Amino acid sequence: MKSIGLYIHIPYCLHKCGYCDFNSHAVDPAEMERFVPALLSEIDHGATRIGEEREVATVFIGGGTPTTLPPQALETLLSHLRQRFRLAGDAEITLETNPATLAPGLFERLREAGVNRLSVGIQSFDAGELKLLERVHSVAEAHETVKAAQAAGFYNLSMDLMFALPGQTARRFRKHLETALALRPEHLSTYNLTIEKNTAFYNMHRRGQLAMAAEEEQLAQYQETLGVMAGAGYEHYEISNFCRPGRECRHNLIYWNNGEHLGLGPGASSYLGGVRSRNCKLPARYIREVNATGRAIEFEETLKPREAMGETLMLGLRLLKGIAIDAFEARFKTSFREVYGKTLDGLLDQNLIQLDDNRIALSPKGLFLADSVILEFIT
Ligand code: SF4
Repeated sequence: MKSIGLYIHIPYCLHKCGYCDFNSHAVDPAEMERFVPALLSEIDHGATRIGEEREVATVFIGGGTPTTLPPQALETLLSHLRQRFRLAGDAEITLETNPATLAPGLFERLREAGVNRLSVGIQSFDAGELKLLERVHSVAEAHETVKAAQAAGFYNLSMDLMFALPGQTARRFRKHLETALALRPEHLSTYNLTIEKNTAFYNMHRRGQLAMAAEEEQLAQYQETLGVMAGAGYEHYEISNFCRPGRECRHNLIYWNNGEHLGLGPGASSYLGGVRSRNCKLPARYIREVNATGRAIEFEETLKPREAMGETLMLGLRLLKGIAIDAFEARFKTSFREVYGKTLDGLLDQNLIQLDDNRIALSPKGLFLADSVILEFIT
């Protein structure tokens, strides 16, 4: 039986953060009431798309902030998923949360409903930085959230932290890492602040009101992160992700291995049987489309072999262990060298990738230039 990952997008947040370009929208209680039944209908339709021959190995309920939905709605959602899909006995079921939505008994209810992994968007342990990012939670709430999750029995907990914030130094970011590590998460993701179009930060940056960290500073903070996390015994398994041994995010590994996944909810993407598709993004339109047709797909394409190969490399090279060449060749029924020999030699000459008998991976130098190295394989 084939296994797939299932992603559910909950597009609501208490407040739209200034830097955020995710498909997230300020909470709208009336719309959210209509959203949940629409999502349940799309789940019914999604179950027919994956058929009987696929088992769901991982579920990731992300957003947005899924915990803006009432606990009762999350319970209904999880029980509906179990009814409609064949979930593996050891399925990893992750839910994203934000410390500002902490409520008494919430995590106990989520555990009871089957969630076994939490991802907490902390971003910073500094009140000034949280304010700058327009996060609506406090430092105290971040600590309380982690403690409440652990007290409820979540022993697979991930935290997100952001670095390269305006005015931040490697030394200050190191303190955030140490604070995070003292809370003993199983997994940590660190992302540098980037300026994305259509965000409030983009406009501020254009007006000269937001000074971004210089590239050298960003690199210094990244290197600091690698040192601190290695010293604490965490494995660096993906460009931005660290975990205790065996605690990789299994759902994201499906993406990085370019495996099959079904995405449900506004803007969610799927990759099934070589076809990539994406739902419409706006929640109001999503609700209308699902109510009318059971689905909300606005874009669909069958990837050509060369595109699928490029995507496999683009995603797989994010993993520190890189890509197994024999698996790549078996999947695409072609010789890796025949397709990428010239690119490979150029990158090897510059010491940007490393190649052993059967694996290709970014070199330590290539890791810092990952985007441009990866681009070489898809242009
Ligand atoms: S909480 Fe996350 S998803 Fe929501 S607006 Fe902020 S950054 Fe975006």
